Amino acid sequence: MGPSRHTQIDDWIRGGGLIVTASERTARSLQMAFHRRRRAEGAMAWPAPSIQAWTSFITASWEKYARDERMLLNSAQEQALWAEIIGREQHLASALEAPRQRLATMAIRAHELLCSFAPRYLNEPTRRAWDNDPGAFSAWLAAFDSACQNGAMMSQARLPLELIPLLQQDDTPRTPLLVVGFDRLLPIHKALFDVWGAWQESEAHAEANEIHFYKSTDEDSEIAACANWCMGQIAAKPGTRLLVVSQDIAARRGEIERAFLRHAGPGARPLFEFSLGIPLSHVPIVRAAHLLFRWLDGPLSETELDWLFSTGLFGAGPAESVALQSSMRTIRRRNLARPEWTLQSFASQRIAWESRSHDWLRGMIDAHRILRDKQQSPIDWVARVPDLLRTAGTPGERALSSAEFQAWHRLEQALDLCASLGFDGRRIMWQEFLSSLARVLDETLFVPESTDAPIQITGPAESAGLNADALWFLGADEEAWPASGSAHSFLPLPLQREFAMPHASARHDLDLAESITKRLLQSAPIVNFSYASQKSETETRPSHLVVRFAESPVPLPPQLLAARTEMQLTVPFADASQVPFPPGKIRGGSAVLTFQSQCAFKAFATARLGAQRWEPAEFGLSAAQRGLLLHAVLHAIWSGPPDGLRSLQDLIALKNLTDFVEKHVRRVIEEKLPEGTADRMPRRYLQLEATRLQHLVTEWLAYETTRLPFSIAETESARTIHIADRELDLRLDRIDRLSDGSLLVIDYKTGNVTCKAWELPRPDDVQLPVYAGFALNQRLGGLVFAKIRPGDFEFAGRVTDANATLIGNLKRTDALAKRPLTPEQLADWKRSIEQLAHDFIAGRADVDPREYPSTCERCGLYALCRIHENRAQSELEDEEEEEVPADE
Ligand code: SF4
Repeated sequence: MGPSRHTQIDDWIRGGGLIVTASERTARSLQMAFHRRRRAEGAMAWPAPSIQAWTSFITASWEKYARDERMLLNSAQEQALWAEIIGREQHLASALEAPRQRLATMAIRAHELLCSFAPRYLNEPTRRAWDNDPGAFSAWLAAFDSACQNGAMMSQARLPLELIPLLQQDDTPRTPLLVVGFDRLLPIHKALFDVWGAWQESEAHAEANEIHFYKSTDEDSEIAACANWCMGQIAAKPGTRLLVVSQDIAARRGEIERAFLRHAGPGARPLFEFSLGIPLSHVPIVRAAHLLFRWLDGPLSETELDWLFSTGLFGAGPAESVALQSSMRTIRRRNLARPEWTLQSFASQRIAWESRSHDWLRGMIDAHRILRDKQQSPIDWVARVPDLLRTAGTPGERALSSAEFQAWHRLEQALDLCASLGFDGRRIMWQEFLSSLARVLDETLFVPESTDAPIQITGPAESAGLNADALWFLGADEEAWPASGSAHSFLPLPLQREFAMPHASARHDLDLAESITKRLLQSAPIVNFSYASQKSETETRPSHLVVRFAESPVPLPPQLLAARTEMQLTVPFADASQVPFPPGKIRGGSAVLTFQSQCAFKAFATARLGAQRWEPAEFGLSAAQRGLLLHAVLHAIWSGPPDGLRSLQDLIALKNLTDFVEKHVRRVIEEKLPEGTADRMPRRYLQLEATRLQHLVTEWLAYETTRLPFSIAETESARTIHIADRELDLRLDRIDRLSDGSLLVIDYKTGNVTCKAWELPRPDDVQLPVYAGFALNQRLGGLVFAKIRPGDFEFAGRVTDANATLIGNLKRTDALAKRPLTPEQLADWKRSIEQLAHDFIAGRADVDPREYPSTCERCGLYALCRIHENRAQSELEDEEEEEVPADE
């Protein structure tokens, strides 16, 4: 930054003047730059610079000049007052909490616009002609004014208007003002500065002497090029200060952060910081506290509870956190998961009390009793919070980081803001108090204390008053710049146009964008604009406004294209070591060998590390629970006398198949539903599930009546086999004895399966081939999947002679007839399965899915094996190899 850019500010402060900035952010930035310059001059100590943001300036002046006792409403109080006024109408939209709060937020904004642009319309008679939404707002505003008058209160938006006459009456000389960072001085600013006395706007700086406009193919390469360029600038000239300005920064924050972090070494302090904050409710330590408050008297979703237990930001120590996480795992394993958990429903699980979090849970239950069914003033609720936090053990035992400490302090301030809601003597329930807290946490933006990083990332409007050595403006496409918006629906459109309110017309948006663009061009000697020609798969064009100042865009120069040699966040390590399976039984049944075939790492992770994919709980029965019920019904039906059947003959002899099935379904639902399921699901829903199951089984049995004679040899048959010198337990749905005396091995399936799953060299499923090859000592007649799907009932598999033993009228083209089971096929399977077992026992665990990505999509362990990172890296390497000319 050249010296001329800050001389005026330093001279003004030295001359005893006061700097007033448009925002707190600009004030902070100017203060930091001032201190940097003093340090660079070698100064040891210096007075704090007189720099104030507009709101602080107005508040400080009010405190100095005002003589009345009116209470200044804070944001939460003003929101509550508007919401209360709007709620008096009892329309559907205003009777519900969420819409009422949204209307209140809109009313506050409309009121601010009137105060800043057209204060004469604050007088009720001037609004008489307003109708529709503006008419409704006008009535609310009149009620708001009257409430303020009666309660001796005042809105923050009225402060400048109230201050102007006070300043007019006071003729003592005042400090001259230098006004910085206002892209647009509003009528209220000008009016107040004029009565204040001497004031002037900061001088415009010279326009950048180097301006570029780049076009990238997509948004990722645009951001990557910007990050590359910033790092190049800092490497070439340490101490350089850069400004990155991005449209829609809230949405792009994650991508921008990732692109810049790729250049940071592991553990190194990032060279960038965002000057725009994130909602306080998104900061983990605050989110954890808020979730705990919510859980005291309401449900949390399963994912929220998982997240909370994993943070370790509560309880007496890490042991409790681990114990609670393990409770959740056990709950899932026992099929007891549910999408939402209240504290009571969680505490009603025996598993929760078996863990080491016993005392913690008891404390939470006691706290819940204290909060229940009670109305208190917000001040009293806030007074309870320290006790509740102590009970919950939040924020935990570990030392907080500086950012966490700051966030915790902001949470305390947010609670104070909520306590102030008792200003009108209201008494509320805990849930209502939490809604107010949630709103305050969402609306409070948290920015950790600046580390004065050399790269500041900000939005176009928020960059007002900031200067740098070089600047990059991202997202300069036609749609995004000038930024467009909608006029305010609570104010008449002609009035908004007359007073040039934001978004009143496209012309106003263009004028504002033009003045911001000009200001950006004066903020640094080097200014780059860029845009992506493809955004969300649609073509975009460059911003006309930017073209006017920077000419037509040119492609990104090659040196800015994403570098392939970015700082690696992971270090590749080829691990060829194998840890043999210890002596003993292999747990997990034939699925272990299926997994070994699908992906060796999957078998290792599930059978040896105990890894499991996470299935979110559902409000109804999950697919797995439905499958279990179907298996249980069929097992009961084929279990033989006194209640079940034993052969085709028994089935055909049934007088009423529907009644027979219904009886079994009813009994299974009564006896086999997971504990507590019936209590938390509506009776009607379970009736529908029972009817669905009954139809499915009835239709399946009707299909089975078309078979050739058979009898049941076994159902749910269990065997222990020996393979590769180890024991393995197997369980199979059913074995039938066919008319030729051979055995048919059956596996019930509700999905769309085919016997392609058994194809060598890497079968996708080996359950039936394992059974056929290692568990039977009698003649095998076939292996089949029994497909039990609505409208799709059939056997699929391999049968030695299907026409003679299974179904008599099969066509020659039918897969069962065309591809019979042969001794060679059985031998091939056996060899392949033995090899899989040997590989598993030897500890072969390579991440090598049978078919990427479909095998991985069904597996769900990608967070553990990190296949996606591996694939991305190897695809990148493949591309690089392709780019190398053949003769090199
Ligand atoms: S996600 Fe894919 S690569 Fe990872 S363990 Fe599962 S199957 Fe293997």
